[in-house]
Amino acid sequence: MLNRSTDSTANIPYIGRFAPSPTGPLHFGSLLAALASYFDARHHSGKWLIRIEDLDPPREMLTAKEQILEALDVYQLYSDEPIVFQSQRYDLYQQSLKQLVSHQAVFPCTCSRKQLANSNGIHFGNCKSQSEQSSDLFAWRFDCQYGAHSDLAAFKDTLQKDFSQSLQLDIGDFVVKRKDQLWAYQLAMVVDDYLQGITHVVRGIDLIDSTLRQNMLQRALDYPIPHYAHIPVACGDNGQKLSKQNLAPALDLDDPQSNIWRALSWLRQNPPDSLRRASVKEMLAWGIEHWNITALSDIKSQAAI
Ligand code: GLU
Repeated sequence: MLNRSTDSTANIPYIGRFAPSPTGPLHFGSLLAALASYFDARHHSGKWLIRIEDLDPPREMLTAKEQILEALDVYQLYSDEPIVFQSQRYDLYQQSLKQLVSHQAVFPCTCSRKQLANSNGIHFGNCKSQSEQSSDLFAWRFDCQYGAHSDLAAFKDTLQKDFSQSLQLDIGDFVVKRKDQLWAYQLAMVVDDYLQGITHVVRGIDLIDSTLRQNMLQRALDYPIPHYAHIPVACGDNGQKLSKQNLAPALDLDDPQSNIWRALSWLRQNPPDSLRRASVKEMLAWGIEHWNITALSDIKSQAAI
C-alpha cells in the first residue's frame, strides 16, 4: 500500500483541497468551488491544498495551467503545501493499480463505446470473465460488484444529504486506466486525496456522480473515506452550468474584490455592503470568520450573479 506523508498531516483534523483540471482558465463557477473549499478549511482551522489535475493532455489548453495559477495568486488563495501536479505522479497511480489487480478488483477490457451503446454506456460485467484480452490495447475497469452487498450504493453528503445510485443502472464497471494508457480521473483523484491526507472534499455538485465510484476505490484500496460537501453549480443565462466547456468567461484578474464579494453573496454568506471596499485579504478573512456552509443545504443550482 502507498504510504501517505503523515508528517504533514499529523494532528490536523481538517485538510481540504481545490483540484482544477487545466482545460481552460478559472471562471466564476471555479472561483465558487475554490472559495467554498478554502473558507470551509480555514473556518475549521484546517489546511487547504491546490492540486492541478493535468491528466488528460488531449483535453487541456496549453496556457491554462499558468492562467489558473496566476488567478489563484491574484485572488490570494495560496496552497499550504507545494502544489501537486498529477502529470508527475503516474508511478503512484501504477502502484495503486497493481494493488487493485492483486485484489482482483479490476479487469482488462477492450469494449468500445459502440458496444456499450445499448446499455447507455454502462459496462456491467460484460467481458469480466474473459481473463485474456486478445489485444494489447485494453482499459482497466473497476469491477463495480467488488465487495458489494446489494445493487444500491449510497453515501451521506454534508449538503445534499443521502445520495444513492444503482450499480447496474447508474455506475457500472468504470475505467481506472484508459485504453490510450492515460490515467482516469477517478483513480488519480482517490490516490492523491489519500496521499495528501484529504479529510474534507468541498466541490461542485456536478461531481457528485463520481463520489460513489471514488468511495468504491477507497474501500478496495483500504483508504479512509473523506467527508463530502457538494455545493450547487452556477448557471449562465442559458440555464447551463458555467464551465470551461461552455466557454464561461475567464475570471477578471484586475478586480478580484468585486468577484469575491459576488461569490460570497452567491454562496449565501450575506456579505455586508461595506465589505465591497475591503482589500482581498480582508474579504477572505471576513469569509473565513463568517463561513456557514449550511446556507447551501439542498440547493442544486442557482443562476450566476
Ligand atoms: N479536476 C476536477 C475538475 O476540474 C475536480 C476534481 C475534484 O474536485 O474532485 O472538474
